[in-house]
Formats: sequence, C-alpha cells, structure tokens
Amino acid sequence: MHVFRSKNDLTDYINNFRKQQHHIGFVPTMGYLHAGHGSLIIQSKKDNTITVCSIFVNPLQFNEQEDFLNYPRNTEQDIQYLTELQCDVLYIPDVTDIYPEGHKSLTYNFGYLEQVMEGFYRPGHFQGVAEVVRILFTIVQPHRAYFGEKDYQQLLIIQELVKQLNLNIQIIACPIVRESDGLAMSSRNARLTPEERQQAPFIFQQLMYAQQHYKKFTPDELRHQIYHNFAQNPNFQLEYFEIADSITLQPVDNWDKHQSVRAFIAARLGKVRLIDNVQLF
Ligand code: AMP
Repeated sequence: MHVFRSKNDLTDYINNFRKQQHHIGFVPTMGYLHAGHGSLIIQSKKDNTITVCSIFVNPLQFNEQEDFLNYPRNTEQDIQYLTELQCDVLYIPDVTDIYPEGHKSLTYNFGYLEQVMEGFYRPGHFQGVAEVVRILFTIVQPHRAYFGEKDYQQLLIIQELVKQLNLNIQIIACPIVRESDGLAMSSRNARLTPEERQQAPFIFQQLMYAQQHYKKFTPDELRHQIYHNFAQNPNFQLEYFEIADSITLQPVDNWDKHQSVRAFIAARLGKVRLIDNVQLF
C-alpha cells in the first residue's frame, strides 16, 4: 500500500493510473478502522481497479471540542489493517493539507435533510462533512465513493452534494456491519467502558423491536413505545427516536403514504454518543 501525506504527491500518483483507464474507488474515513470500514474497502476493491482510503479526523464536523479531542486514533493499527485488506492507497493528511491557511469554507444548503436528527442535534456537523468531502473528492477525483448506511443521513447529504455540485462520482451505499450482539460497529465504541459495552446493544434491540412490530402500531404509537422503553432504562439518554421517509427524511405519520421508511436512534451511553438505524420497509 502506498501512503501519502500530501495531496500533491497523492494526485501525481493517482493521475498516472487514471491515464491508464483505471477505475478509482474512494473510501473516506476518520480512522480507528473496524470491519464496517473494511466492508467499504472490500466493496471498492470489487468494483474498481484502484482503491484509495483516506484517514482524516475532520475538525470542522465536530460540534463538541471534547468529542474531537477524545476521538480514538491509531494510525499504525489502521495501516496494518488496510495492508491486510490490500487497499492500494492511503491518504492521511495534516489539517493544513486539507485546509491551507486562509481557507474559506463554502456554505451549503441541504434544506430539510440537514435540519433534522443529526443536523438538529449537531449544529454545523453536515456543513463540516460536506466541506471535507468536497475537498477530498476534488483531490482524489474518484469514479465511485463508498459510504456506510450506519450514517444514513450523511449518505443522503453526500448524494445531494454530488447532485448540487454536478460531480461525476457514483455514490455507493454499503450496509451496516454489526457486532455479533447487534451493536453497530463504530470507532466510538472503543470509548465505552466494559459495562457500557454490555449495555450498548439495547439500541439495536429497540430498532429490532420497531422492525418486527411496526405494523401493529401507528408511527406515533411506535414512537411512544420506544420513548417509553428508553425512559425505563437509566443507562441511556435518548436524543431522538425518529421514523422517517428513507429518501426525504420527512417524519412518517401514516405507513401507507411512504414507499420506504427507516427508524433512527441517537442516544448517549455514559460519555459516548451512539447512532444507529434500520429499514422498516
Ligand atoms: P467514519 O470513520 O466514522 O467517518 O466512517 C467512515 C465511513 O465508514 C462512513 O461512510 C461510515 O458510514 C462507514 N461506517 C462506519 N461504521 C460502519 C458500519 N458499522 N457499517 C458500515 N459502514 C460503516
């Protein structure tokens, strides 16, 4: 695997392959890699002849300084994992390579998509995500880019970004990879205490309950049921449970009016904020 810390070296290297008609797949990450990231790399390797992964803990997308400072990092371990997966290229820039001095971010308008759920509870988050992804896309210029449904709202925002900027990049959505007890894999899981780690699958269990029983309830009844279940569990502070249209994220009040619906949860367990979602239909 070739490791680059500067965008100029990276683009020189990739452009050579581009001239030879290679297809470039791109997997942007914030590192502390796990099998969820691994599944994106594996999918990119199937679809493309060159796979580029980036690791960059993007300060712009953190609305809490403490979360940014405590975000888990282990570059050596990540390089080893990517080497095992036979990833072709790793880009691991410093902040100044992405945001040179005097950098001015663009302002994006994603409408309703950025006003709800993560957009509401993490002000500025998606502006920061869009800015870093736009810059990374400009540097890597991939044919395809891979994003996990774990961050489903982010996936919709990226699709909208590509549409608005008229980029010729195919966005590939990849399913959520889970631990054997259902917990969605996440770099932040490493920050859970052993006790919290045992409690964490509660989130997935609530989503499974919603998936298996939604037909017996109206969407509002189901919301109340899940809010009630969280209220009974003192370990969690629920930020939101939402039932939303899979394309528009508009809240669902009648099952029959939607083609595809997902359930979303964000909750705090100790100091760690966890998110997860499932498709209901
Ligand atoms: P992150 O490093 O958290 O920014 O994630 C980088 C990419 O990996 C994003 O597209 C995430 O949605 C995706 N990802 C993270 N965790 C998982 C998971 N458990 N399953 C599938 N994709 C994931």
